[in-house]
Amino acid sequence: MNKPKIVVLGSGYGGIITTKKLEKLLKSGEADVTLINKHSYHYITTQLHKTSAGTAQDNKIALPIAELINNEKINFKKATVSSLNFDDKQVLLENDETVEYDYLLVALGFQVETFGIPGIEDHAFKIRSFRSSKAIYHHIENQFSKYQEDHDPARLTFAVAGAGFTGVEMVGELVENLKNLAEKHDVPYEKVQIINIEASPNLLPGFALDAVKYTTELFKTMGVKLMTSTKILECTENYVKVDSGEIATKTLIWSCGVRGHQLFEEAGLETIRGKMKVDKFLRIPNLEDVYCIGDNAHFMVDEKTALPPTAQVAMQQGPVCAENIVATMRGTELKEFEYNHKGSVASISDYYAVGKVGNFVIKGKFAALMKQVVEAKYLFALGGPGLVFKQTLGLNPLGFVKRTVKQ
Ligand code: FAD
Ligand code: NAD
Repeated sequence: MNKPKIVVLGSGYGGIITTKKLEKLLKSGEADVTLINKHSYHYITTQLHKTSAGTAQDNKIALPIAELINNEKINFKKATVSSLNFDDKQVLLENDETVEYDYLLVALGFQVETFGIPGIEDHAFKIRSFRSSKAIYHHIENQFSKYQEDHDPARLTFAVAGAGFTGVEMVGELVENLKNLAEKHDVPYEKVQIINIEASPNLLPGFALDAVKYTTELFKTMGVKLMTSTKILECTENYVKVDSGEIATKTLIWSCGVRGHQLFEEAGLETIRGKMKVDKFLRIPNLEDVYCIGDNAHFMVDEKTALPPTAQVAMQQGPVCAENIVATMRGTELKEFEYNHKGSVASISDYYAVGKVGNFVIKGKFAALMKQVVEAKYLFALGGPGLVFKQTLGLNPLGFVKRTVKQ
């Protein structure tokens, strides 16, 4: 008898957690599970700002998928999905291969939202993947080398677009590492400028005021030029145009928000900013053997509120999704997804962070420690205590152990 085919697309937060849960739930020989991902490694998306700034070793961020899954139970396929054919229950890959499914999970993560602003697509640097983040770091380092040749101050002006969580975290890492890069390239650090450009009147728009105030002050102390109420209108290779004029820079790191995946629209489905509306069981309505989670999914917690695109959401959806795929297969009852918000913390370098847990704003070194605990918990979910130990060894726990990485 043919075994049911379960296909998981994307091995990010949502995809890998679902796959690991499927490993546990399925009886031997009950189904064929195939995990498809663009790369042979799983990257920790929540730490890509560190790769971009060069503050983390590559092997802390990109982990071989083969070491995270049970290769006897899961077939891993390194491939890029090029289209989805829901009518014939097929996934098409860039290498022209077709993969058939009975049950499908789409967890391909976010795409960067450019709002169609001229030059962003071609000239701004995007924190999208491990590779795109490495490209940011190489570009930054290159600016220091080239500055020694042409002394163009625009090379030492590093602009971060958006002061949401990603933008603030990116600024924190730049503060941490640009001093080292300046020293390495024999460039006076006083000539380096970090600018954070935000369209709203405050950084971290909509977040607790106390946290906003703390971060604004910290940026001041760190020498970051914060430009709020400033909208980016255009980006070229040599300058960024904002509503108050032009900023000469060769580096604009774009962190102005995300959207879902274009594959849904290309398959003729209606989306909300590229995200698929899912029901309480995480299925795409009218395609009931197709599940969708994480940044690809638009899940309404009530009539007015959709869940934000966060790792926390993807990680909580994964296990429920796995249970529901197995329940659909076995014809048993499905489980409703209920989100439990545990708080939000943004790191500002390894040494500071700011966040809100319940009704409490947390900040400073304590918040930074909380952030590291959250990261360790994820590693635990991925690979148990062994992985936590392996990955955190050598990381700088709040400055108690001097780290020498910095690329
Ligand atoms: P992802 O984790 O992005 O995984 C998608 C996977 O699909 C990737 O492996 C990708 O390579 C693969 N893929 C994409 N397209 C294809 C294709 N066509 N074919 C094959 N494979 C493909 N959230 C938090 O809750 N806390 C945080 O601290 C936090 N920090 C963040 C910091 C940064 C810098 C960024 C960018 C985001 C952060 N987020 C954070 C948001 C969080 O990372 C995402 O919400 C989360 O990764 C979503 O998980 P996902 O599984 O939907 O997608
Ligand atoms: P975001 O949408 O949260 O923030 C984007 C920011 O860019 C906004 O403040 C917006 O006002 C600004 N912006 C948009 N267009 C602009 C323009 N033209 N000029 C200047 N500013 C402009 O996006 P994000 O920060 O990339 O975060 C994406 C998701 O990932 C969110 O759900 C976030 O919570 C999550 N995330 C969480 C963490 C964490 O929990 N530590 C870290 C990073 C990201």
